[in-house]
Amino acid sequence: MSTFRIGQGFDVHPFSEDSDRSLIIGGEILPGPGLDGHSDADLLAHATADALLGAAGLDDIGQLFPDSDSSFLNANSMELLKNVVGLLKEKGWEVCNVDCNVIIESPQLSSYKNNIQDRMSKLLDAPVTVKGRRSEGLGFIGEGKGAACLVVALISKS
Ligand SMILES: [Zn+2]
Repeated sequence: MSTFRIGQGFDVHPFSEDSDRSLIIGGEILPGPGLDGHSDADLLAHATADALLGAAGLDDIGQLFPDSDSSFLNANSMELLKNVVGLLKEKGWEVCNVDCNVIIESPQLSSYKNNIQDRMSKLLDAPVTVKGRRSEGLGFIGEGKGAACLVVALISKS
């Protein structure tokens, strides 16, 4: 009989004032100012990693890949996510599916959504759905100060 577990991930990053930083979501480079962070600030990769780790009952990414470790400076977060999938596989977990909300005022995600979903699905070897949402002008997201991401992941072990 299979065991199923669900996990939830959340992440938020402020927009950077450094015009050299790229906006990276799910490994896709989007137009516009980049997000600030120790790594490449790929909030979708971070929230997905945390959802998977939470489902498997493992430490979160802040503990696994600490900000204080300079080897993660400007790290490619899709590589971190790949490591997380490897950790789960070692423990016998398979990803069933992942569903994500990226809450960002601009740019609109619709033109990038398919690429992001394809890349994430390949990396996780499971269906990934990504929805772009706006905050309708409200709060720090609506004011364009930052962006957030919510992810749920289902994993199974037979
Ligand atoms: Zn993050």
